[in-house]
Amino acid sequence: MNSIAIVGGGLGGAATAVLLQQAGYSVAVFEQTPRFDPAGAGIHLTPNVMRILAHIGIADALVASGRLPASFTSRDLASNSVRCALSLGERAEERYGAPYLTVGRGVLHRELINALRPGTVRYSKRLVGLDDRGGAVQLRFADGSTAEAPCVIGADGLGSQVREVMHGAERPSFSGQIAYRAVLPASGRVAVDRQCITKWWADDRFVIGYSTDSRTDDYYFVAGAPAEAWTHPQSWVDGDRDEMLDAFADSCEEVLGLLNASQSLTKWPLFERPPLQQWGRGRIALLGDACHPMRPHMAQGAAMAIEDGALLLRCLAAEDEIEEAFWRYAESRKQRTARVQAVSAENSWLKDAEDPSWVFSYDAMRIDPAPGRPR
Ligand code: FAD
Repeated sequence: MNSIAIVGGGLGGAATAVLLQQAGYSVAVFEQTPRFDPAGAGIHLTPNVMRILAHIGIADALVASGRLPASFTSRDLASNSVRCALSLGERAEERYGAPYLTVGRGVLHRELINALRPGTVRYSKRLVGLDDRGGAVQLRFADGSTAEAPCVIGADGLGSQVREVMHGAERPSFSGQIAYRAVLPASGRVAVDRQCITKWWADDRFVIGYSTDSRTDDYYFVAGAPAEAWTHPQSWVDGDRDEMLDAFADSCEEVLGLLNASQSLTKWPLFERPPLQQWGRGRIALLGDACHPMRPHMAQGAAMAIEDGALLLRCLAAEDEIEEAFWRYAESRKQRTARVQAVSAENSWLKDAEDPSWVFSYDAMRIDPAPGRPR
């Protein structure tokens, strides 16, 4: 039989491919880029996703590279005073069953890709069309080639072509916020606590910073501020430090010191879409940002994509019929991802003391998938 086709080898597509391959499925990943770029950004891996990465067998390597922050501390952007702090470190494992890690995004991606059998990812394959022929799906690529698969998983991110085939062209909407991102090399001049994730809050803007590497003292920050529009054709542009400093002029000294220390800065638009009702059609299903892109304020976009992959595997394993498996998968995931999208849009997560167990304690490898359709 032909391999299951996954379109997009980003964080969700790569993780899903590993999970399926480890469970004995034959998988091919079709990725538009000729090679992956080791992007210099950080990512939070919360216990709900660390549990899946442990199942895959890459959690120890990630822990060896990243940081186990002692806390998530919320501070006031203007005064630097503490609003609340959530203990992490060893407490995260005790409370939520897995660690909370911050790590380089490129490190996570590399570990996932390396966990795949060589040749699984077909590079320079930009999907341009799909044709569901009943028993199989034909994929068409920009280079003129085609492939056939028993089913297709669209993990092709925010501007998903698979979603467009299913639902027509509809651009994601600009959320009204942009984010400046930078990695600061180790430097004693910046007065930040590298043991913690710190988020500084004001009404309509924020700065979040943390270390992503246990061996260096690199410190990564994201500074989010309102903006009227995103007029650039690209998904990010070089950032202007003076423009950023203007937007954060009323911040405390600690934040100004941090922003001032940035040398190479990028500026990103934050896009979103409303929750999608139909996640699949026939032998085609969506996962990750392709079906539920969200603002990054809960650090759950990749976590939700990887959880999707785990539930997709479990539904495929439980059902003989692909259409039925895809239906159960979507029903298993819609409510949770819609809730995470909504809380992410509010940008209120951990601003004040709250219990994060509903996010962190979710166990995608064990939770019961939704029941099948009544026949
Ligand atoms: P992507 O990772 O975007 O992958 C999509 C892949 O599909 C890409 O490789 C792309 O090249 C490929 N592709 C696209 N179109 C085609 C095509 N036509 N044919 C073939 N291939 C195609 N999430 C977290 O969990 N924790 C965090 O701390 C976190 N921080 C974030 C900070 C910021 C500032 C932002 C913007 C996001 C953050 N996220 C975080 C969100 C996270 O990055 C995304 O939600 C996640 O990458 C989604 O994974 P995905 O696989 O769905 O899509």
